Amino acid sequence: MYHGDHWPDLRREHRTRRTQKRQRRQRQRDVTKPFGGIVDTVTSSSSTQARVTARERLSVLVTGGAGFLGSHLCEHLIERGHRVICLDNFHTGRAENVRSLTGSGRFDLVEHDIVEPFPKELPHFDHIYNLACPASPQHYQADPVATALICSQGVYNCLRAAEQHGARVFHASTSEIYGDPEIHPQTEGYHGNVNTVGPRSCYDEGKRFAETLVTDFGRRAGLVTRMARIFNTYGPRMQPDDGRVVSNFVVQALLGKDITVYGSGEQTRSFCFVSDLIDGFTRLMSNGDGSLGPVNLGNPIETTVRALAHIIIDIVGSRSKVVYQPLPIDDPRRRRPDIAQARAALGWSPKVELAEGLRHTIRYFDDELRRAPQSQFDAAHSAYRRSGAVAEDLALAAADQGSSYSSRGSRLLDRSLT
Ligand code: NAD
Ligand code: UDP
Repeated sequence: MYHGDHWPDLRREHRTRRTQKRQRRQRQRDVTKPFGGIVDTVTSSSSTQARVTARERLSVLVTGGAGFLGSHLCEHLIERGHRVICLDNFHTGRAENVRSLTGSGRFDLVEHDIVEPFPKELPHFDHIYNLACPASPQHYQADPVATALICSQGVYNCLRAAEQHGARVFHASTSEIYGDPEIHPQTEGYHGNVNTVGPRSCYDEGKRFAETLVTDFGRRAGLVTRMARIFNTYGPRMQPDDGRVVSNFVVQALLGKDITVYGSGEQTRSFCFVSDLIDGFTRLMSNGDGSLGPVNLGNPIETTVRALAHIIIDIVGSRSKVVYQPLPIDDPRRRRPDIAQARAALGWSPKVELAEGLRHTIRYFDDELRRAPQSQFDAAHSAYRRSGAVAEDLALAAADQGSSYSSRGSRLLDRSLT
């Protein structure tokens, strides 16, 4: 829970920082105005994109930064020259995902649960991307109460921290807020068709509540907020056992196991490759001055789950057979984003075709399979497992290095900031 008494000193400190930040922003505006005055110039996923100068460098906090999307975002920000504080409790993420970033000298890895108030000792940050939340149905349903709290108390804590640091906020929302949609494709104006008491509700309704909280915080506290409604995204660093359709099918195909299609396989999803999505995130965050969103980000090309199974079997050249299993309760029948807003406001549209993205993803899982014991990957349908071993290993490593960060259950696991 939030304890207001712990923060008065911070408030004073952050008022000063806000003033300094306003002055810094003004100085930056004087230098260049790439997108209506905001100087985070990350606008394209192209590797030719310029790094920011030391003056333009932002300090960016990424919650859930050790997860699938978060680790790609951290990598992208570090490549562009920013400082990154990655805050994660390793619920579904892995420290392995961001280990390579620690050599940059601009990356901190902090173990923290966003349901708890943010540690006071956090360095100042200009932007916060809130990605912390389990995303696969298997994981978010394993502890539905925890999921609902992450989407409510956790988001509240992120917003409080943003307010105190005077930071711009990005919040990762989801196509799940449309539920089982009656409008197709889904536009941002559609309010959704969501069961409030089903097995998916903790996530769907949690994310809907979070959108409300972010919006009202923006109105009340004058925060600049950005929200993306993310449609199914896939790519390297998905967890092999998170139960999502792309990771399940790829691992099954590589192991020559049956491909488990739920229901008839006629339900559709629209699959976006991770690099396209991260490009959308950074465009949304850097574009213009006021609050924006929610904006749909996803690939508008729709595929049936059955077709996806066959595409993956073909690319892998697998001997796997397709088998049919019961459709989970409340599984949405159709999903396709209308991305007209993202195209118009951000000049964004996905570039990576499904077959190409799947080839990258298959190569990643193939490498992982070669490195890890097969038994680890046989858990494609196993119950949720916390990756506590990784966190413990790193905590020991941090202790060996003499790292002493500790605050209300938070630990600095890897500090490379100087
Ligand atoms: P992920 O499970 O790989 O990553 C989530 C990260 O958040 C993990 O590193 C996890 O350890 C961390 N986390 C979870 N609970 C936390 C807590 N209480 N405190 C701190 N850290 C916590 O999932 P992802 O696919 O990378 O999704 C990231 C975000 O994007 C989520 O908010 C998700 O709802 C949203 N999203 C993802 C997709 C998708 O297709 N990948 C689609 C829609 C929305
Ligand atoms: N799915 C499937 N087999 C699997 C995993 C998932 O047929 O092994 C189906 C699932 O029922 C859903 C679709 O694939 O219709 C996408 O599922 P996922 O969990 O990846 O995402 P979400 O349902 O949240 O969009």
